[in-house]
Amino acid sequence: MISYQIVEHGRPLQKILGETPKPQGTEVLVRITRSGVCHSDLHIWEGYFELGGGRRFYVKERGCVPPFTPGHEPFGIVEAVGPRAKGVKLGQRRIVYPWIGCGQCPVCKAGQDNYCLKSRFLGVNRAGAYSTHVLVPDAKYLVDAGGIDESFAATLACSALTAYSASAKLPALGAKDRVAVIGCGGVGLIGISVLRAKGVKNIVACDIDDAKLAAAARLGAKTTLDTRSPDAAQKLQGVAGAIDFVGSPVTAALGIAALRKGGRYVLVGLYGGELAHPLPPIAQRAIGIVGSYVGNLRELKEVVALAKKRKLKPIPVETRAADQASRALEDLKGGKVLGRVVLDFGSVSTAPAPVREP
Ligand SMILES: [Zn+2]
Ligand SMILES: [Zn+2]
Repeated sequence: MISYQIVEHGRPLQKILGETPKPQGTEVLVRITRSGVCHSDLHIWEGYFELGGGRRFYVKERGCVPPFTPGHEPFGIVEAVGPRAKGVKLGQRRIVYPWIGCGQCPVCKAGQDNYCLKSRFLGVNRAGAYSTHVLVPDAKYLVDAGGIDESFAATLACSALTAYSASAKLPALGAKDRVAVIGCGGVGLIGISVLRAKGVKNIVACDIDDAKLAAAARLGAKTTLDTRSPDAAQKLQGVAGAIDFVGSPVTAALGIAALRKGGRYVLVGLYGGELAHPLPPIAQRAIGIVGSYVGNLRELKEVVALAKKRKLKPIPVETRAADQASRALEDLKGGKVLGRVVLDFGSVSTAPAPVREP
Protein backbone atom coordinates (compact mmCIF):
# COMPACT_ATOMS: atom_id res chain seq x y z
CA MET A 1 0.00 0.00 0.00
CA ILE A 2 0.99 3.61 -0.45
CA SER A 3 0.64 6.16 2.34
CA TYR A 4 1.48 9.84 2.69
CA GLN A 5 3.12 10.03 6.08
CA ILE A 6 4.33 12.60 8.56
CA VAL A 7 7.99 11.63 8.88
CA GLU A 8 8.94 14.82 10.68
CA HIS A 9 6.41 17.30 12.14
CA GLY A 10 5.91 20.36 9.97
CA ARG A 11 7.94 18.94 7.06
CA PRO A 12 6.38 17.79 3.75
CA LEU A 13 4.57 14.45 3.92
CA GLN A 14 6.46 11.57 2.34
CA LYS A 15 5.12 8.92 0.00
CA ILE A 16 5.84 5.56 1.63
CA LEU A 17 5.36 2.14 0.05
CA GLY A 18 4.48 -0.43 2.72
CA GLU A 19 3.10 -3.92 3.16
CA THR A 20 -0.68 -4.03 2.66
CA PRO A 21 -2.12 -5.37 5.94
CA LYS A 22 -4.14 -8.61 6.03
CA PRO A 23 -7.33 -8.33 8.08
CA GLN A 24 -7.44 -10.63 11.14
CA GLY A 25 -10.46 -11.62 13.25
CA THR A 26 -13.26 -9.09 12.76
CA GLU A 27 -11.09 -6.63 10.84
CA VAL A 28 -11.96 -5.24 7.42
CA LEU A 29 -9.48 -3.86 4.88
CA VAL A 30 -10.82 -0.87 2.95
CA ARG A 31 -9.24 0.29 -0.31
CA ILE A 32 -9.45 4.08 0.02
CA THR A 33 -10.77 6.04 -2.95
CA ARG A 34 -11.33 9.41 -1.25
CA SER A 35 -9.75 11.00 1.80
CA GLY A 36 -10.77 14.41 3.15
CA VAL A 37 -8.21 16.91 4.42
CA CYS A 38 -9.40 18.36 7.73
CA HIS A 39 -8.14 21.34 9.67
CA SER A 40 -7.23 19.16 12.65
CA ASP A 41 -4.81 17.28 10.36
CA LEU A 42 -2.81 20.51 10.46
CA HIS A 43 -2.29 20.21 14.21
CA ILE A 44 -1.28 16.57 13.87
CA TRP A 45 1.11 17.52 11.08
CA GLU A 46 2.60 20.38 13.11
CA GLY A 47 2.70 18.17 16.22
CA TYR A 48 0.92 20.30 18.80
CA PHE A 49 -2.12 22.30 19.92
CA GLU A 50 -1.73 25.79 21.42
CA LEU A 51 -3.06 25.90 24.99
CA GLY A 52 -2.43 29.62 25.53
CA GLY A 53 0.14 31.36 27.72
CA GLY A 54 2.93 29.76 25.66
CA ARG A 55 1.87 26.24 26.64
CA ARG A 56 1.33 23.44 24.12
CA PHE A 57 -0.17 19.98 24.02
CA TYR A 58 2.03 17.69 21.93
CA VAL A 59 0.28 15.02 19.88
CA LYS A 60 3.08 12.51 20.61
CA GLU A 61 1.66 12.36 24.17
CA ARG A 62 -1.37 10.54 22.83
CA GLY A 63 0.59 8.16 20.65
CA CYS A 64 0.81 10.13 17.43
CA VAL A 65 4.53 9.65 16.83
CA PRO A 66 6.11 9.90 13.33
CA PRO A 67 6.26 8.11 10.99
CA PHE A 68 2.49 8.51 11.06
CA THR A 69 -0.29 8.43 8.45
CA PRO A 70 -2.92 11.12 9.12
CA GLY A 71 -6.42 11.31 7.61
CA HIS A 72 -9.78 10.74 9.29
CA GLU A 73 -12.27 11.29 6.47
CA PRO A 74 -12.09 7.91 4.70
CA PHE A 75 -14.25 6.61 1.91
CA GLY A 76 -13.49 3.42 0.03
CA ILE A 77 -14.24 -0.09 -1.14
CA VAL A 78 -14.16 -3.23 1.00
CA GLU A 79 -11.17 -5.18 -0.35
CA ALA A 80 -10.65 -7.97 2.19
CA VAL A 81 -12.30 -9.21 5.38
CA GLY A 82 -11.07 -11.13 8.40
CA PRO A 83 -12.46 -14.63 9.14
CA ARG A 84 -14.82 -13.32 11.87
CA ALA A 85 -16.01 -10.15 10.07
CA LYS A 86 -19.82 -10.04 9.88
CA GLY A 87 -22.36 -8.05 7.85
CA VAL A 88 -19.96 -6.97 5.13
CA LYS A 89 -19.28 -7.98 1.52
CA LEU A 90 -16.31 -7.47 -0.76
CA GLY A 91 -16.78 -4.56 -3.16
CA GLN A 92 -19.13 -2.54 -0.92
CA ARG A 93 -18.46 1.20 -1.07
CA ARG A 94 -18.51 2.68 2.41
CA ILE A 95 -17.71 5.67 4.61
CA VAL A 96 -15.46 4.56 7.46
CA TYR A 97 -16.44 5.94 10.88
CA PRO A 98 -13.02 7.01 12.16
CA TRP A 99 -13.70 7.79 15.85
CA ILE A 100 -13.29 4.22 17.00
CA GLY A 101 -12.99 3.38 20.70
CA CYS A 102 -11.75 0.25 22.48
CA GLY A 103 -15.15 -1.40 21.94
CA GLN A 104 -15.13 -2.86 25.48
CA CYS A 105 -15.61 -0.03 27.99
CA PRO A 106 -19.00 1.34 29.20
CA VAL A 107 -18.88 4.43 26.94
CA CYS A 108 -18.13 2.30 23.86
CA LYS A 109 -20.91 -0.12 24.83
CA ALA A 110 -23.23 2.90 25.11
CA GLY A 111 -22.32 3.85 21.55
CA GLN A 112 -20.08 6.77 22.55
CA ASP A 113 -16.83 5.57 21.01
CA ASN A 114 -15.74 9.17 20.59
CA TYR A 115 -15.57 9.55 24.40
CA CYS A 116 -13.49 6.40 24.94
CA LEU A 117 -10.29 6.81 26.95
CA LYS A 118 -8.54 4.08 24.96
CA SER A 119 -9.42 5.51 21.58
CA ARG A 120 -8.26 3.98 18.31
CA PHE A 121 -9.15 7.00 16.18
CA LEU A 122 -8.05 6.61 12.57
CA GLY A 123 -5.47 9.20 11.63
CA VAL A 124 -5.10 10.29 15.26
CA ASN A 125 -4.12 7.22 17.32
CA ARG A 126 -3.57 4.76 14.48
CA ALA A 127 -2.78 4.82 10.77
CA GLY A 128 -5.30 6.96 8.92
CA ALA A 129 -6.70 7.56 5.48
CA TYR A 130 -3.95 9.43 3.61
CA SER A 131 -3.34 5.98 2.24
CA THR A 132 -4.52 3.50 -0.36
CA HIS A 133 -5.64 1.17 2.45
CA VAL A 134 -7.08 1.43 5.94
CA LEU A 135 -7.58 -1.39 8.40
CA VAL A 136 -10.89 -1.09 10.29
CA PRO A 137 -11.35 -3.12 13.53
CA ASP A 138 -14.96 -4.09 12.84
CA ALA A 139 -17.49 -3.91 9.99
CA LYS A 140 -19.94 -2.05 12.25
CA TYR A 141 -17.86 1.10 11.62
CA LEU A 142 -18.70 1.04 7.89
CA VAL A 143 -21.59 3.24 6.76
CA ASP A 144 -23.40 2.91 3.43
CA ALA A 145 -23.40 6.18 1.49
CA GLY A 146 -25.18 4.94 -1.64
CA GLY A 147 -26.12 7.79 -3.99
CA ILE A 148 -23.88 10.42 -2.38
CA ASP A 149 -20.95 11.82 -4.37
CA GLU A 150 -17.82 10.01 -3.09
CA SER A 151 -15.80 13.14 -2.31
CA PHE A 152 -18.67 14.70 -0.39
CA ALA A 153 -19.34 11.37 1.34
CA ALA A 154 -15.76 11.31 2.68
CA THR A 155 -16.26 14.69 4.36
CA LEU A 156 -19.29 13.44 6.28
CA ALA A 157 -17.04 11.33 8.56
CA CYS A 158 -15.55 14.36 10.28
CA SER A 159 -16.75 17.75 9.10
CA ALA A 160 -20.47 17.03 8.77
CA LEU A 161 -20.52 14.71 11.80
CA THR A 162 -18.72 17.29 13.94
CA ALA A 163 -21.15 20.02 12.92
CA TYR A 164 -24.14 17.72 13.43
CA SER A 165 -23.08 16.70 16.93
CA ALA A 166 -22.35 20.35 17.84
CA SER A 167 -25.79 21.44 16.63
CA ALA A 168 -27.38 18.93 19.01
CA LYS A 169 -25.83 20.85 21.93
CA LEU A 170 -27.67 24.10 21.15
CA PRO A 171 -30.59 25.05 23.43
CA ALA A 172 -34.18 24.49 22.27
CA LEU A 173 -34.75 27.10 19.56
CA GLY A 174 -37.83 29.20 18.85
CA ALA A 175 -38.73 30.09 15.26
CA LYS A 176 -37.17 33.56 15.50
CA ASP A 177 -34.08 32.62 17.51
CA ARG A 178 -30.77 33.47 15.88
CA VAL A 179 -27.80 31.11 15.83
CA ALA A 180 -24.26 32.32 15.12
CA VAL A 181 -21.90 30.13 13.11
CA ILE A 182 -18.44 31.49 13.85
CA GLY A 183 -15.86 30.49 11.24
CA CYS A 184 -16.91 29.44 7.75
CA GLY A 185 -14.18 26.97 6.84
CA GLY A 186 -15.14 23.44 5.78
CA VAL A 187 -16.77 22.50 9.09
CA GLY A 188 -18.52 25.85 9.56
CA LEU A 189 -20.00 25.73 6.06
CA ILE A 190 -21.37 22.23 6.47
CA GLY A 191 -22.59 23.45 9.87
CA ILE A 192 -24.82 25.91 8.04
CA SER A 193 -26.14 23.08 5.84
CA VAL A 194 -26.76 20.93 8.93
CA LEU A 195 -28.64 23.72 10.74
CA ARG A 196 -30.76 24.41 7.65
CA ALA A 197 -31.51 20.69 7.30
CA LYS A 198 -32.67 20.71 10.94
CA GLY A 199 -35.04 23.60 10.22
CA VAL A 200 -32.99 26.48 11.70
CA LYS A 201 -33.66 29.51 9.51
CA ASN A 202 -32.08 32.43 11.33
CA ILE A 203 -28.35 31.77 10.93
CA VAL A 204 -25.71 34.50 11.22
CA ALA A 205 -22.51 33.41 9.47
CA CYS A 206 -19.38 35.04 10.88
CA ASP A 207 -15.93 35.15 9.27
CA ILE A 208 -13.21 37.55 8.15
CA ASP A 209 -13.09 36.27 4.55
CA ASP A 210 -15.57 37.60 2.01
CA ALA A 211 -15.44 34.48 -0.21
CA LYS A 212 -16.27 32.25 2.78
CA LEU A 213 -19.13 34.55 3.82
CA ALA A 214 -20.49 34.45 0.27
CA ALA A 215 -20.38 30.63 0.32
CA ALA A 216 -22.18 30.71 3.69
CA ALA A 217 -24.95 32.84 2.20
CA ARG A 218 -25.32 30.41 -0.72
CA LEU A 219 -25.71 27.54 1.75
CA GLY A 220 -28.55 29.35 3.50
CA ALA A 221 -27.17 31.70 6.16
CA LYS A 222 -29.73 34.50 6.56
CA THR A 223 -27.14 37.15 7.34
CA THR A 224 -23.36 37.35 7.18
CA LEU A 225 -21.09 39.29 9.49
CA ASP A 226 -17.51 40.36 8.90
CA THR A 227 -16.21 40.07 12.44
CA ARG A 228 -13.52 42.67 11.75
CA SER A 229 -16.16 45.40 11.50
CA PRO A 230 -16.21 47.64 14.60
CA ASP A 231 -19.87 46.98 15.38
CA ALA A 232 -19.66 43.17 14.90
CA ALA A 233 -20.17 42.39 18.62
CA GLN A 234 -23.16 44.70 18.78
CA LYS A 235 -24.75 43.21 15.65
CA LEU A 236 -24.44 39.70 17.07
CA GLN A 237 -26.03 40.59 20.42
CA GLY A 238 -28.85 38.35 21.62
CA VAL A 239 -28.17 35.09 19.76
CA ALA A 240 -29.68 31.97 21.32
CA GLY A 241 -26.66 29.90 20.40
CA ALA A 242 -23.19 30.30 18.96
CA ILE A 243 -21.18 27.46 17.49
CA ASP A 244 -17.52 28.40 17.36
CA PHE A 245 -15.72 26.51 14.60
CA VAL A 246 -12.54 28.56 15.12
CA GLY A 247 -11.88 28.28 18.84
CA SER A 248 -9.56 31.24 19.45
CA PRO A 249 -9.66 33.65 22.42
CA VAL A 250 -11.16 36.30 20.11
CA THR A 251 -13.96 34.11 18.72
CA ALA A 252 -14.77 32.68 22.16
CA ALA A 253 -15.08 36.17 23.62
CA LEU A 254 -17.32 37.20 20.70
CA GLY A 255 -19.58 34.16 20.91
CA ILE A 256 -19.99 34.14 24.69
CA ALA A 257 -20.64 37.89 24.92
CA ALA A 258 -23.29 37.71 22.17
CA LEU A 259 -25.49 35.11 23.93
CA ARG A 260 -28.90 36.06 25.19
CA LYS A 261 -29.81 34.94 28.71
CA GLY A 262 -30.03 31.15 28.74
CA GLY A 263 -28.04 30.94 25.49
CA ARG A 264 -25.36 28.41 24.77
CA TYR A 265 -21.85 28.69 23.34
CA VAL A 266 -20.62 25.46 21.70
CA LEU A 267 -16.87 25.22 21.20
CA VAL A 268 -15.70 23.04 18.32
CA GLY A 269 -12.63 24.67 16.73
CA LEU A 270 -9.17 23.81 17.97
CA TYR A 271 -7.33 26.96 16.88
CA GLY A 272 -5.97 27.27 20.40
CA GLY A 273 -5.46 29.63 23.28
CA GLU A 274 -7.18 29.97 26.63
CA LEU A 275 -10.43 31.32 28.02
CA ALA A 276 -10.57 33.92 30.79
CA HIS A 277 -14.09 34.96 31.75
CA PRO A 278 -15.59 36.51 34.89
CA LEU A 279 -17.59 33.86 36.76
CA PRO A 280 -20.68 35.68 38.15
CA PRO A 281 -22.16 36.60 34.71
CA ILE A 282 -22.08 32.93 33.62
CA ALA A 283 -24.50 32.22 36.47
CA GLN A 284 -26.44 35.48 36.26
CA ARG A 285 -26.98 35.16 32.48
CA ALA A 286 -27.62 31.39 32.88
CA ILE A 287 -25.48 30.71 29.83
CA GLY A 288 -23.90 27.41 28.88
CA ILE A 289 -20.36 26.91 27.66
CA VAL A 290 -19.95 23.42 26.23
CA GLY A 291 -17.35 21.63 24.15
CA SER A 292 -18.14 19.27 21.29
CA TYR A 293 -15.70 16.80 19.78
CA VAL A 294 -16.52 14.92 16.55
CA GLY A 295 -19.60 12.68 17.06
CA ASN A 296 -20.76 9.11 17.56
CA LEU A 297 -21.65 6.39 15.04
CA ARG A 298 -25.40 6.90 15.43
CA GLU A 299 -24.96 10.61 14.63
CA LEU A 300 -22.88 9.76 11.54
CA LYS A 301 -25.69 7.49 10.32
CA GLU A 302 -28.21 10.29 10.93
CA VAL A 303 -26.19 12.88 9.03
CA VAL A 304 -25.60 10.42 6.16
CA ALA A 305 -29.37 9.85 6.03
CA LEU A 306 -29.89 13.62 5.66
CA ALA A 307 -27.38 13.68 2.79
CA LYS A 308 -29.08 10.72 1.09
CA LYS A 309 -32.42 12.53 1.25
CA ARG A 310 -30.72 15.56 -0.39
CA LYS A 311 -31.54 17.63 2.69
CA LEU A 312 -27.89 18.46 3.31
CA LYS A 313 -26.61 21.01 0.81
CA PRO A 314 -23.08 20.00 -0.22
CA ILE A 315 -20.27 22.43 0.56
CA PRO A 316 -17.69 23.29 -2.13
CA VAL A 317 -15.40 20.26 -2.44
CA GLU A 318 -12.24 20.26 -4.52
CA THR A 319 -10.92 16.80 -5.38
CA ARG A 320 -7.14 16.67 -5.86
CA ALA A 321 -4.72 13.87 -6.71
CA ALA A 322 -3.41 12.04 -3.64
CA ASP A 323 0.15 13.26 -4.23
CA GLN A 324 -1.12 16.79 -3.49
CA ALA A 325 -1.58 15.92 0.22
CA SER A 326 1.22 18.18 1.46
CA ARG A 327 0.14 21.06 -0.76
CA ALA A 328 -3.42 20.68 0.52
CA LEU A 329 -2.21 21.04 4.12
CA GLU A 330 -0.16 24.14 3.17
CA ASP A 331 -3.17 25.71 1.45
CA LEU A 332 -5.40 24.97 4.43
CA LYS A 333 -2.84 26.55 6.75
CA GLY A 334 -2.74 29.62 4.52
CA GLY A 335 -6.54 29.96 4.62
CA LYS A 336 -6.70 29.37 0.85
CA VAL A 337 -9.22 26.51 0.87
CA LEU A 338 -12.90 27.23 0.30
CA GLY A 339 -14.88 24.30 1.74
CA ARG A 340 -12.94 21.06 1.64
CA VAL A 341 -10.07 19.49 -0.27
CA VAL A 342 -10.51 15.76 -0.77
CA LEU A 343 -7.67 13.56 -1.97
CA ASP A 344 -8.31 11.08 -4.76
CA PHE A 345 -6.65 7.75 -3.94
CA GLY A 346 -8.74 5.86 -6.48
CA SER A 347 -6.15 6.28 -9.21
CA VAL A 348 -3.08 5.56 -7.07
CA SER A 349 -1.48 2.35 -8.31
CA THR A 350 -0.04 0.05 -5.70
CA ALA A 351 1.45 -2.30 -8.29
CA PRO A 352 5.22 -2.64 -7.97
CA ALA A 353 7.22 -0.52 -10.43
CA PRO A 354 8.01 -2.46 -13.62
CA VAL A 355 11.43 -4.11 -13.57
CA ARG A 356 13.54 -3.10 -16.54
CA GLU A 357 15.34 -5.86 -18.42
CA PRO A 358 19.07 -5.21 -18.52
ZN1 LIG B 1 -11.52 16.45 11.22
ZN1 LIG C 1 -13.92 2.25 24.94
